[in-house]
Amino acid sequence: MVDILKTTIREVPDFPKKGILFKDITTLCKDPVSFQRMVDLLGHRYVGSPVDLVVGIEARGFIVGAALAYKLGAGVVLVRKPGKLPHKTYKATYELEYGEDSLEIHQDAIEKGQKVLIVDDLLATGGTAAAVVELVEQLEGEIVECSFLVELDELKGREKLLPHKTFSLIRY
Ligand code: AMP
Repeated sequence: MVDILKTTIREVPDFPKKGILFKDITTLCKDPVSFQRMVDLLGHRYVGSPVDLVVGIEARGFIVGAALAYKLGAGVVLVRKPGKLPHKTYKATYELEYGEDSLEIHQDAIEKGQKVLIVDDLLATGGTAAAVVELVEQLEGEIVECSFLVELDELKGREKLLPHKTFSLIRY
């Protein structure tokens, strides 16, 4: 099932810059069977786990995260690029596979001790997700796991997320 899902991800060389092989999940998302399968396979892992909130990372993480939260009966928290969230925020800065950026979370998004699943479409160097871990920890949320649709193994992103657990459905 996972192998079939993998074939629906399009690979775009040299996007957004030379040398990056971009894993384009729009081709997976637009296929109803693949999209449902992705949500079901990810959701299956957490059925019975006490997840209060799914934290989705802008922007593709919102798609995976919101669908997963619905499946788990959890709430959704948005982590966004600077200046997008309207209320008081905390910010974390991180390095990307291609550049540097910051992310923000609402200061009241997570209550102390709430069980949080961090979700994004893809784990590359781990800088993005590590910044989100920092934000969740700042709010004293309890991280259940960091969960991804895709992981690029050779970039060793999961090492940046230790001691937290990492799961990815599709690995390259
Ligand atoms: P990183 O911080 O290096 O783990 O990068 C992860 C973030 O960048 C995710 O939000 C991905 O959507 C995006 N990203 C990084 N590399 C790629 C890639 N090769 N293909 C698609 N998205 C990527």
